[in-house]
Amino acid sequence: MTTLTDLNQLDTAAFVERLGGIYEHSPWIPERAGARRPFASLAALKLALQDAVNLASEDEQLALLRAHPELAGKAAIAGELTAESTGEQAASGLDRCSPDEYAALHELNAAYNARFGFPFILAVKGPTGKGLTRQAIIATFRRRLGNQPQDEMMEGLRQVHRIAEIRLNALLGVELAFGPLVMDWAEQLGAISDDEQGLTCAYLTPAHQRSAALLADWMREAGMMVHIDAVGNVVGRYAGLDPDAKTLLTGSHYDTVRNGGKYDGRLGILLPLAIVRQLHARGERLPYHLEIIGFAEEEGVRFRSTFLGSNAVAGRFDMALLDQVDADGVTMRAAIEAAGHDPAAIPAIARDPASLLGYVEVHIEQGPVLLEQGLPLGVVTAIAGSSRYLVELEGLASHAGTTPMSMRRDAAAAAAEIVLLVEARCSQGGSLVGTVGQLAVPGGSVNVIPGRCRLSLDIRAASDAERQAAVRDIFEGIDAICARRRIVVTTELLVEAAAAPCAPRLMEQLGAAVERAGLPRFDLLSGAGHDAMAMAAITEVAMLFTRCGNGGISHNPLETMTADDADIAARVLLDFFRSHP
Ligand SMILES: [Zn+2]
Repeated sequence: MTTLTDLNQLDTAAFVERLGGIYEHSPWIPERAGARRPFASLAALKLALQDAVNLASEDEQLALLRAHPELAGKAAIAGELTAESTGEQAASGLDRCSPDEYAALHELNAAYNARFGFPFILAVKGPTGKGLTRQAIIATFRRRLGNQPQDEMMEGLRQVHRIAEIRLNALLGVELAFGPLVMDWAEQLGAISDDEQGLTCAYLTPAHQRSAALLADWMREAGMMVHIDAVGNVVGRYAGLDPDAKTLLTGSHYDTVRNGGKYDGRLGILLPLAIVRQLHARGERLPYHLEIIGFAEEEGVRFRSTFLGSNAVAGRFDMALLDQVDADGVTMRAAIEAAGHDPAAIPAIARDPASLLGYVEVHIEQGPVLLEQGLPLGVVTAIAGSSRYLVELEGLASHAGTTPMSMRRDAAAAAAEIVLLVEARCSQGGSLVGTVGQLAVPGGSVNVIPGRCRLSLDIRAASDAERQAAVRDIFEGIDAICARRRIVVTTELLVEAAAAPCAPRLMEQLGAAVERAGLPRFDLLSGAGHDAMAMAAITEVAMLFTRCGNGGISHNPLETMTADDADIAARVLLDFFRSHP
């Protein structure tokens, strides 16, 4: 068995030799990475190897991709693969394809090579490390064939790194203490859905209540005191040594959007749960009480309101919401009562800020930043505030053939200018982002100048001042565009949410734990809203983001992450828990 210490001490030739099987036929990768020895951790070694590839020329990267065999290709059938590839392909059953599957893979290999000029590369052991099914492999192959060449090259390289990560684990005999369990739990929880297809877990549906019960069971098994509160939050308490100590809160939401991902929200519950399970098993107590809250509702799928769970804990639950009705005419009050809870008890859920040490939330990034950076973890600086508007433009619908260009009042042309104005104003740097996500010409037709146009506006930034300045500029610009084009404009404010900055003290502690794990600290803004935003009303908050695979897609069944990323996130969080004052 090779250890990290061995690798640090070998001479260069022996180091390159020992890591020869990690990157397919490419000794230059360990050679360049080896110059950065000694490595403080496996994570640091992985990163150095990845950097060697990322800093290489495009020709070298292409050569690396081309050094990989086709899946179930001619070389595999002829037994010409490296020992590593043979083992991996066999473990996923690729050596036992049916004739139809062989034919499909053969056709896909040919089409893929013709389109991209390198073979299709997939870590067939998959995100969990346990192996993908042949059906999943073929489905992924089909989907990626549609990618743009530049994106697909990046994805190919990321798969190469994932393959290398799994091979390194095997070489060093690494046992992931948390990742596989977290992935397995997410899979089990993800199988409980309102719909037959995909994962939908909306507030207080039967699937939602079963999910809560399962989370409560797991928390109890992990050694926690558990209750489900009046809004449906699943609360697990791991008492500290000192009964008078304060409480550190962690958690996230367990509801999902329609056809959502398995890790959005749930990761932030399962990850600390795996940690508590281990602490309990070894009889280790923390100097404070730790509570994991699985928030019942964050996504706003069933009722027109979001953050029900965390708002209740923050004492900001609006009791008027109880009269809201879902699509079937069921009030929130009735839904809560039907689930066996007492709506009148909701105000009592509110926590006393004086009893809290803070709130820390782990969440999948739901974006491509960490993936692009090649980093498993990021420390969140703030949750962006947002302003959303609906803008109505009214011009004059007239004949497309007979109205001269100079005499038009075209609402869609004004909208087009506004879209570009928003893009330009929000591209000036800083954390600002601006989007026109809805754009419609109601009742438009091919031969009529658009008389009306409706568009949405979504502006977000880390600081409220930055966002408000942009909103002011954009509305001034809209007025100028509409005055020049003789368009009447009306606007409606839909949402105005203040930014929630993370506490520098907690960010420092998280960042230090990231560095102790051998990774560089990387800070990023959360463009999406999270429960931490609601919790910021009563206590200091911090968030740790984990890398999101598949190009950073979320709110989608393709949302993915790896057991290794879950594992290092858990180790960092455990370190944070232990070092937290
Ligand atoms: Zn979420």
